[in-house]
Amino acid sequence: MTIELDALVIGAGFAGMYQLHLLRDQLKLNVKAVEAGTGVGGTWFWNRYPGARCDSESHVYWYTFSEELMKEWEWSERYPGQAEILRYLNFAADKLDLKKDIAFETRVISAQFDAAANRWRVATQGGDIYVVKYLISAVGCLSTANVPKFPGLETFAGDWYHTGEWPHAGVDFTGKRVGMVGTGSTGIQAAPVIAEQAAHLTVFQRTANYSVPARNAPLPTEFKQYVKQNAKQIRATTRETLNGMAFKIEDRKAVETQAEEREKIYEAAWERGGLQFRASFQDMLTSKEANDTAADFVKRKIRSIVKDPKTAALLSDIDHPYAAKRPPIDTDYFETYNRDNVTLVDVRSKPIMGISERGILTEDGEYPVDIIVFATGFDAMTGPLQRLNIVGRDGVALKDAWEAGPRNYLGLGIAGFPNLFTITGPGSPSVLCNMPVAIEQHADWIARCIEHMRANGLETIEAKPEAVEQWIAEVNELANKTLLPQAKHSWYLGANIPGKPRVFMPYAGGMVRYRETCDSVAANGYEGFVLA
Ligand code: NAP
Repeated sequence: MTIELDALVIGAGFAGMYQLHLLRDQLKLNVKAVEAGTGVGGTWFWNRYPGARCDSESHVYWYTFSEELMKEWEWSERYPGQAEILRYLNFAADKLDLKKDIAFETRVISAQFDAAANRWRVATQGGDIYVVKYLISAVGCLSTANVPKFPGLETFAGDWYHTGEWPHAGVDFTGKRVGMVGTGSTGIQAAPVIAEQAAHLTVFQRTANYSVPARNAPLPTEFKQYVKQNAKQIRATTRETLNGMAFKIEDRKAVETQAEEREKIYEAAWERGGLQFRASFQDMLTSKEANDTAADFVKRKIRSIVKDPKTAALLSDIDHPYAAKRPPIDTDYFETYNRDNVTLVDVRSKPIMGISERGILTEDGEYPVDIIVFATGFDAMTGPLQRLNIVGRDGVALKDAWEAGPRNYLGLGIAGFPNLFTITGPGSPSVLCNMPVAIEQHADWIARCIEHMRANGLETIEAKPEAVEQWIAEVNELANKTLLPQAKHSWYLGANIPGKPRVFMPYAGGMVRYRETCDSVAANGYEGFVLA
């Protein structure tokens, strides 16, 4: 079937749903969304692994464009769990009556720009062709699962799963020997829950990781009321902070604070729990000396929690600055290693060689398991875009244009790819920000841009190559002012995927500065873009 539309949105998670709403209900475009899953939810549709929970606190992890939606929904816990977020997104989709305009179980396999017709031709796996003027990718930053290419995986006699493609029916670990590879945010959330059910859990750790207690808990009635009464103010606060959270980064510097006082501050932050640990001092991510104080504090905490000295040493032998990789928060992660049925295996010194029929093979020998859980992350940020097989002007494929790393303007537009917008694309704050805040800003900007084009009879918008050059330079410069690029194994850098170019992908200048830049670009007639 060939379907002609004004616009097509790819993806029906937080981003795609809101973009569909804006384009359909505000701009009155003829627009649809396509979604590979059988339901809405994006990340939260696919990541159903045990312990899956958001690290943003619930009162900032939702749509804020509608006060009505904010007042009608009530979160039950400090951090929303996967099932509750999925319920929320279904609630929002139903309130906005979005589902009727989403084609589910529809995976895009290619998108080609037809310059003569000034249209994108988007092909789906099912054989449909969407012919559209505007193409908006809302495919998320972490939606292309990375299953390491371990030789012999196909011979494994047990079951294996990637956390980002978790079976809807769940996995029963009762009585099973489980091997879990990966100790990022996902593995750190999953390990304690799997350990409670499994006969034995063996965690294969390549890079030791920091983690701070989340201190999740049911929300008291008073807090729920506070959120309802202060919805507008909470929204406003998330627009004023560097990372779209409701907490502010303290003005004080770790390097200027006396050691005793600093310890008290870290201790209080540890007790309070959550991502605001990294907001304890303003110089934590810019000064190695400051960062060392936080790193040292967390490492000492790990060693004080984990009873076996060898395991404690492995867990606290962390090779990067605190928060230079996305910092996880946890519920009893380090405590889990005190259980009799949990073992930690170091696969940095003795890497995984492959998978046998019976289990995981390292240079140290075979670890027999019944189930393997790959908590091995994603081909982040560029992976989901590249999977769409996008071909722009003059037959140039995105995979060739981005061979040396992503190159775009504002993280939103790509030279040579007219009328294509990438929500939370590389080069935008995205994963360094509370995602719904980053998403709403992008979707609003895109809607205003399309509105401007229609009002002025403009047919195409395309980033100028020189604007791309400048933007990439700025993204690099901002990242290099921080300690972020110093984590060698970080997915922020693409370093988790063999052969992927090492380029720091997210915009590290903070959401406030980024929003101002985007607004001023629009106010100056979409400076840096060619509008025709
Ligand atoms: P990740 O941070 O990329 O962690 C993947 C883990 O797998 C790392 O420990 C990595 O080791 C290991 N690994 C990968 N390939 C390996 C191999 N061949 N051999 C041995 N180990 C291997 O992925 P993730 O934990 O899924 O998290 C990704 C992102 O998703 C997070 O950073 C976060 O932004 C988001 N997330 C958010 C939440 C939340 O909000 N609650 C929860 C989960 C995830 P190396 O470090 O050595 O590469």
